[in-house]
Amino acid sequence: MTSLFQHGTLAMLMGKQMQGTITVGELLQHGDTGIGTLSGLDGEVIILNGQVYQAQSDGQVNHITDETTLLPFASVHFDKPTKKLPFNTVNFETLSDKLKDSKLHNIFSAINFHGEFPHVHVRIVPKQIEPFPSLLELSTHQPEFTKDNISGTLVGYYAPEIFNGPTAAGWHLHFLSDDKTFSGHLLDFSATNVIGNLQVFDEFVQHLPLDNTGFRNMELDLEGLHSGIEASEGGKK
Ligand SMILES: [Zn+2]
Repeated sequence: MTSLFQHGTLAMLMGKQMQGTITVGELLQHGDTGIGTLSGLDGEVIILNGQVYQAQSDGQVNHITDETTLLPFASVHFDKPTKKLPFNTVNFETLSDKLKDSKLHNIFSAINFHGEFPHVHVRIVPKQIEPFPSLLELSTHQPEFTKDNISGTLVGYYAPEIFNGPTAAGWHLHFLSDDKTFSGHLLDFSATNVIGNLQVFDEFVQHLPLDNTGFRNMELDLEGLHSGIEASEGGKK
């Protein structure tokens, strides 16, 4: 069994529940690779080889070593690649097409590769304070950064359409440069000299913050949920 562990849901962020509800220490017990965000949606987190990095909204990248740091939302897995990526060059537009033989559309999978990136375009969500807004209200205020000719690693997930709500359907990818100075949530990229792997999961573990009062009392606007996710997080399909 290969398992993808997710703490929190995107729907909770839509429901203004951005308070951190799992520690870095606990999260790392469920995986050494993944993506997420810190309390108050403070930046974009990428986890590589059990090391946690946070891109904060001024562009600075922090190595998070305090295991008590809290996250409201994160997805992790143990890196046990199942398939070598069948391409050397790729960009966000061609990614799904280049993997179409892998028939990913109904399953969860992780992609993890190193490469040279002629172009990287990221956005970094800015930290919010209570009372938290909804993720949708935040979608228009997210600093974006671009970098050309940088080497680094891309990590992220593909989620099937029916899980749009717990997470965002399609690709959700984060980037970290080799020199650990440039990172964020990928809006666009092109990559060459790609070396990496795909990992498919037959189990999706959805972990919820039982002890969190805000989450337990949350009432979701289900009608607006999917359009909100599309506007704020909608990944490329
Ligand atoms: Zn992201």
